[in-house]
Amino acid sequence: MLNTVKSEELYKIALDLMPGGVNSPVRAFGAVGRNPLFIDHAKGSYVYDVDGNKFIDYVCSWGPGILGHSHPEVLEEVVKACFDGLTFGAPTGKENQLAQLVQECVPSMEMMRMVSSGTEATMSAIRAARGFTGRDKIIKFKGCYHGHSDGLLVQAGSAALTQSVPDSSGVPASFAEQTLVALYNDKDSVRELFENNKDQIAALIVEPVAANMGVVIPDDDFLPFLREITEENGTILIFDEVITGFRLGVGGAQEWFGIKPDLSTFGKIVGGGMPMAIYGGRRDIMKNISPTGKVYQAGTLSGNPIATTAGIKTLEILRDHPELYTKIEANTKKLAEAYKVRAEKQGIAIHVNQIGSLMSAFFTGENVKDYAGATSSDTKAYADYFNYMLENGIYVAPSQFEAMFISAAHSDEDIQRTIDVLTK
Ligand SMILES: *Cc1c(COP(=O)(O)O)cnc(C)c1O
Repeated sequence: MLNTVKSEELYKIALDLMPGGVNSPVRAFGAVGRNPLFIDHAKGSYVYDVDGNKFIDYVCSWGPGILGHSHPEVLEEVVKACFDGLTFGAPTGKENQLAQLVQECVPSMEMMRMVSSGTEATMSAIRAARGFTGRDKIIKFKGCYHGHSDGLLVQAGSAALTQSVPDSSGVPASFAEQTLVALYNDKDSVRELFENNKDQIAALIVEPVAANMGVVIPDDDFLPFLREITEENGTILIFDEVITGFRLGVGGAQEWFGIKPDLSTFGKIVGGGMPMAIYGGRRDIMKNISPTGKVYQAGTLSGNPIATTAGIKTLEILRDHPELYTKIEANTKKLAEAYKVRAEKQGIAIHVNQIGSLMSAFFTGENVKDYAGATSSDTKAYADYFNYMLENGIYVAPSQFEAMFISAAHSDEDIQRTIDVLTK
């Protein structure tokens, strides 16, 4: 059994200070029936908790850590930047540098705006689309997550596809009404919404690879269909690449699938571990953002020099080392195979979805192509597996409905050790 004495002490104190003792809900470990570990530090592929336990980390801060923790080159640049000042509230050349890098990697980003979280990026992209089209309604997909702004915390009501309801207390029903909910990989559900809301839909937002209900891969014709139907209806297509951006290669999902969205959002990797996110795309849409246009959006710490520095160095390393993607993908495939072996050995059903360095092992016998498939998983079996992995020094997501994140810092030994534990 893991020694967790110090974590338990800190957790007890934290519980009194923060809801659930955490600053973001999934950290609370509620889905896996134990208390969270408090982290002391992290390096490369490892996290170390306050009790001195060491884990191979497959959470990687939920995606930003594609180079592993505390990458020496990134750290060096960040430390240097700190001595020049933490924030100015005035433009810097580094913002140009990061924007140019993003543009180089993702050519659809003709013009962009930096913000501090993925939530802000998606919220602002939707406002930009509404301002540009003069329409109010948007379409999102059940099981896709786009941050916690009011209009995006919405699920399909009981009369699915005709009525939307808030997915969180505190979200006014009148806000939820503006968000129509379709089903991932279900073209008919999208068609129906467009037919019933002619000339009213400002934007369709989608995770090009869904990674917040576990990883769910789009059917071959799904994204091309979304591109076509949005174009036909004068609706702005937004790819939420907060996870897929710079993970499925430097060009993200839009390069992988060869689809050009009107707007895109980036977060996680783009900040190299610091709070940084970006939205942008078509110049004719983006020039409507304040101060040039009438769509208001601002941020005291936006384009922060330290976050910008971490982002620049991270993207430079990724751009200059395409072999890192090859390595991460190969390792991801090895792990995917190991889950299949585990399923067979244990006589349990596991369905693995894998694309590039994104993967999820669902504890279900179903072929997971949408939210219904994902939620057919046996979450109790997942919790048992999570605890088994943790006891064996491997830190995976404390929820079935999250991706497994593999980084460039995971060595062959780390991967082999993980496979050994999985297939024991
Ligand atoms: C994490 C995530 C967000 C929200 O980003 P935050 O920085 O947590 O606000 C939005 N969209 C997707 C696809 C994400 O994975």
